Amino acid sequence: MRKPVALRHVVATSIILAALGAIGAVKAGLVGGDFMYALEQVQSPLAKTSPVLPDPHGPRLARRVFLVIIDGLRLDKSYELPFLDELRRRGVDTEAQSHYPSWSRPNYVSILTGVPPVASGVRTNHHSTPVELDSLMDRAKAAGLEVACATDYDVLPKLFLRKRAPDAHDAYRAGQVAIEPDVDEDGEPIPLDIDAMDHPLSEAAIHAPDANYISPFDDARYAPWPGGFTEVGTAIAQGDADLVVMLVGSVDAAGHAHGGASAEYRIAAELADHALGRALARIDLNQDAIIVTADHGHTNRGGHGGIEPEVLSVPLILAGAGVKPGASADDAHLIDLAPTVATLLGIPAPGHGLGRTLSEVLALDPAVRDARRAADDTRLASTRSVVARSEAAAASEAKARRAWRISLVAGGAVLAMIGAALLVRRRVMRLDGRVLLVSVPAFFVVYYAMIGAAGQGFSPSLVPAQGHIAVVMAQYGIAAMVVQLLASMWALRREVSLTERLAKANGIAWMGLLFAMIPAGLAWALMPAPYIVLPSAHMLVLIPAVEVAVACAAIDVALTLVVEVIVFAARARQVDVSSKR
Ligand SMILES: [Zn+2]
Repeated sequence: MRKPVALRHVVATSIILAALGAIGAVKAGLVGGDFMYALEQVQSPLAKTSPVLPDPHGPRLARRVFLVIIDGLRLDKSYELPFLDELRRRGVDTEAQSHYPSWSRPNYVSILTGVPPVASGVRTNHHSTPVELDSLMDRAKAAGLEVACATDYDVLPKLFLRKRAPDAHDAYRAGQVAIEPDVDEDGEPIPLDIDAMDHPLSEAAIHAPDANYISPFDDARYAPWPGGFTEVGTAIAQGDADLVVMLVGSVDAAGHAHGGASAEYRIAAELADHALGRALARIDLNQDAIIVTADHGHTNRGGHGGIEPEVLSVPLILAGAGVKPGASADDAHLIDLAPTVATLLGIPAPGHGLGRTLSEVLALDPAVRDARRAADDTRLASTRSVVARSEAAAASEAKARRAWRISLVAGGAVLAMIGAALLVRRRVMRLDGRVLLVSVPAFFVVYYAMIGAAGQGFSPSLVPAQGHIAVVMAQYGIAAMVVQLLASMWALRREVSLTERLAKANGIAWMGLLFAMIPAGLAWALMPAPYIVLPSAHMLVLIPAVEVAVACAAIDVALTLVVEVIVFAARARQVDVSSKR
């Protein structure tokens, strides 16, 4: 007969496996938590090139243009609103497509620069540095026009802050204490964190009053209090700014809180419509133009970010001077708005844009229309080639990284197999088919089923509230952990030999870690950050999901082993007591 396995060796194996799990958990958890930030690019490749400005200063079609963004208003819920319907009746009733990922910051940038998230580097609402792309505000100011903004959500002006020309400001500051850390120890410029201002005790907030930045608007009014939007909207409308950007945030808030199909969302849309109607009541549409759109829609349960039709389809309403009443846009996207607004004002389109002038909805002379089209073509040829070049460079870099990362993952898997074979041979670990079949899949089935069913499928829109996707996944992971722990205990309940039981628990731990780590390793190898090329909507959920799965599975493994060691110690004591009797 073979010599029995020493208990302390089995316990030692448990401890080593639990420690490996803990390291994996921390690493994967950090990667999963950082994923949304890893999607961001501080500077887009386009921002490193000069704006392409072939557009002629055309005739000005509208004296003033009001560009209104109703945050989160989806197309089908934008009808039967008195003010919007009146604009539709007098002008153009059409729709536009938002851009994936369909979050707010990325699409404020789509609308105001004509650059979609894939090329702007602004991919999520975690983007917190000013966007260095040429914008409608930059073009209008360069043409000597006045630009204003009225909003109840302060992010929009902050997202387009510009560095003040250094001369006057630096002269003023000469000899004073450094009030703004422009560069780090290595002399690298530190990008401004616009969200840091929200924490009144932060360095950014303390330095803010005399920081070297200038608003993108000549007049920007932010009024977050009840009735504030109507108040500042009316004041700005009564002024004489040539380009007015308006943003209403309340409909999006209602969508997150109650869902896009709710009565509350509908009421929020009615109230926003009413507020706009009041603010813009005196606008003379014979001279001025109003454009109303949204940055994205909402799912019925609330949430956006993905590619669902109700999230991507948004209203596009144009009325007034320069608009061709009754016309319809041909496959309009949010990136087409910047060149369209520029055409109405007779100024060049923002020079990094990837959209086109929606000339089919404008009352343009054929000669002007052709000149705009030619200018669009020149700009697009240049901007598209910049984007294509950077994507090709990123793809070849990723390819190079992929090769050695895949070999690393394969090598790790082989090492794990060899390790397992050694442990099985020394009988400190047992791979029991029945036990493994009950306990190992339990975690993964419960976890992925919950992401698919409890949220809104494998879509970035899965979180109805404005939460962090990884945090929601971790909640599903905890539920899956509980199920897996119970399944393991049930599968092991009939083991009489304590050593056997712990050896089989080691088997569960090893198999669980392997199954969690291989997909995470593959995601890391096949789709490595930085994400110049944007992952698809499914991958945007699956990549952090597999990382969070490793974190949870590893904690789970550690817990399983801890429970088993406790059971083991308790039973050992029992045996000890009864043998002495
Ligand atoms: Zn939102």
